[in-house]
Amino acid sequence: MTYTKKRYLTYTAITLFCMVLPFITINGNHMLLLSFDKMQFHFLGFAFAIQELYLMPFLLIILFIGIFLSTTMGGRIWCGWACPQTIFRVLFRDLVESKLFKLRRIKNKQKEIDYESYGNQAKKLLAMGLFFLLLLFIASNFMWYFVPPEDFFVYLQNPMEHLFLILFTITVAVFLFYTVVLTKEDFCVYFCPYSRVQSVLYDDNTVHVIYDEKRGATECTSCDACVKICPTHIDIKKGLQVECINCLECADACTGVMAKEGKSSLIQWSSSNQMVHNKPTNHFSVRNIMYAVSIAACIGFILFFSAQKEYLLVNVNRTTNLYKIEDKLVRNNYVFTIQNTQDRAYTYDIHVKNEFFEAKRFKPFTLQPNQRVKKVVTIETTKPMSYSNSKDTPLTLNVSVFAQQEPQKVVLNKKVAFIYPRDSLIK
Ligand code: SF4
Ligand code: SF4
Repeated sequence: MTYTKKRYLTYTAITLFCMVLPFITINGNHMLLLSFDKMQFHFLGFAFAIQELYLMPFLLIILFIGIFLSTTMGGRIWCGWACPQTIFRVLFRDLVESKLFKLRRIKNKQKEIDYESYGNQAKKLLAMGLFFLLLLFIASNFMWYFVPPEDFFVYLQNPMEHLFLILFTITVAVFLFYTVVLTKEDFCVYFCPYSRVQSVLYDDNTVHVIYDEKRGATECTSCDACVKICPTHIDIKKGLQVECINCLECADACTGVMAKEGKSSLIQWSSSNQMVHNKPTNHFSVRNIMYAVSIAACIGFILFFSAQKEYLLVNVNRTTNLYKIEDKLVRNNYVFTIQNTQDRAYTYDIHVKNEFFEAKRFKPFTLQPNQRVKKVVTIETTKPMSYSNSKDTPLTLNVSVFAQQEPQKVVLNKKVAFIYPRDSLIK
């Protein structure tokens, strides 16, 4: 099977995966969702409140180190096989422009469309219109990672109430139209920062597109099939270039040319060690092992923190009054911000664990999933606690906020400062 066919199959698999993923839920939670609407981040079926985004740095580290590792091992494998820009370019150029509207030939990407003919101009406009409709669908698919499909389609039924969402989706489609239809491969060559940094990550074991100079010196027919088919308009025979997106179309083209002479392609997906130095490719370099260990450590942290996930969030602030005194009774006031991070409703209560202290002015209350409230809570005591006649005494109380339905599981213990007035103030 040619590399091109393998790429098309990979693109189909990635596209289906990205389209289906937003619809998959576990216990009502999505596999990947960053909802600003509900202030939630869903990952692998776990729901995290935005305040719990300590997982995000680990995901970003995995992303970056993953890019380093894949580049060191497989060159610009991302660009040629998985980058959305490449996939959309193939959709527009190879499927819409070439197959559907016959505006260009897949095997010759150098030749520009002949716009002298009105027929071609009309076809190009139709191709762009059709592709923009497709981009609107792709932009909607992108939005489902921020507004889940079950909400997205409901919002679409009331467009005037969700204008921002609709305008944002259209803006994403227009941006994609600009990069895919207008800037084309120039986006990869001039705009994408990854193309600039990738070459410093290459070493002799990196697998990438290589022209066999030794064989090429006598066997190359100079047919230029490899140049004509190249989407970034380069000649791989001149060596590795920053423009090469590792699509391997040149390797396929040369395979066809060389097959007529019963020989293998002069352009291979191989490493310098294998191709030039006749040594086996070794992916177990110290650098690659360190990358892999870092990724494994981040995955470990994510699993650990997921297991430590809080079932509710509580934040406690003191009010501006330090304390209130009524005879022997001393009160401190607090504002408790409590958020239910679970996907079912709970009724919450507060208990002060320290002897002689009690929470007052507080009644158990129910919070719906992801709901957050502020509650004023008074903690009071009648027991003398002062250590000094001239200074207030700071005490630390242990307060637990818990759900009445599952007090052992849905519970959060907080340390709360209680200021007891100096003796001279107590009657
Ligand atoms: S040189 Fe080959 S692999 Fe690189 S972009 Fe051109 S056709 Fe693709
Ligand atoms: S396709 Fe192969 S034979 Fe033809 S010019 Fe390129 S490297 Fe040479």
